[in-house]
Amino acid sequence: MSDAFPPPLARLVEALKRLPGVGAKSAQRMALHLLDRDREGARFLVESIGGALDDLTRCPTCRMYRAAEHCRYCSDERSRAGQLCVIESPADLLAIEQHTDYRGRYFVLLGRLSPLEGTGPDELGLDQFAELLRSDWVREVILATNPTVEGETTAYYLSEMARAAGIPITRLAHGLPVGGELEYQDRGTLSHAFSGRRAFEE
Ligand code: ZN
Repeated sequence: MSDAFPPPLARLVEALKRLPGVGAKSAQRMALHLLDRDREGARFLVESIGGALDDLTRCPTCRMYRAAEHCRYCSDERSRAGQLCVIESPADLLAIEQHTDYRGRYFVLLGRLSPLEGTGPDELGLDQFAELLRSDWVREVILATNPTVEGETTAYYLSEMARAAGIPITRLAHGLPVGGELEYQDRGTLSHAFSGRRAFEE
């Protein structure tokens, strides 16, 4: 960072560069925008980041973020739908909530099986998934991992677990472009993939 910057400004620019897709130039523009024109917004940003870091924890059941003890995604009402949707990331969960009518339960893998990256069943919390499969409310497992090679491998592995537990398995319809990440799909594509899901075949 340039010596031309007062240290607190240099530090702010460094911090903003941590955001995905933000380079030095954009970070500098954002920093000056906040300081010059939106100091109230800057305080709001600081408080929101602090609050999110302090108040959000991972739900031990679905592995999504939750505030306090109650997880909105693991409610009894959602269990009554009898469906358990498995996705790779919290971003996928939010995409499904925003773009489809699905209101069942979830399990977030926080990754996908990838021997090259050292991601195995332990990292994906598959012991917890196995425990969920033993719940008496589960009547359908919906595999919504991404349609990539690793996502398909993961789906196959999960399907074996669900099959062993005697639970019917469906997979999202392949209207999704190959290699497309769930979180980048628009409303039409994603809700079509959901409503058109079919029985998982090996
Ligand atoms: Zn939960």
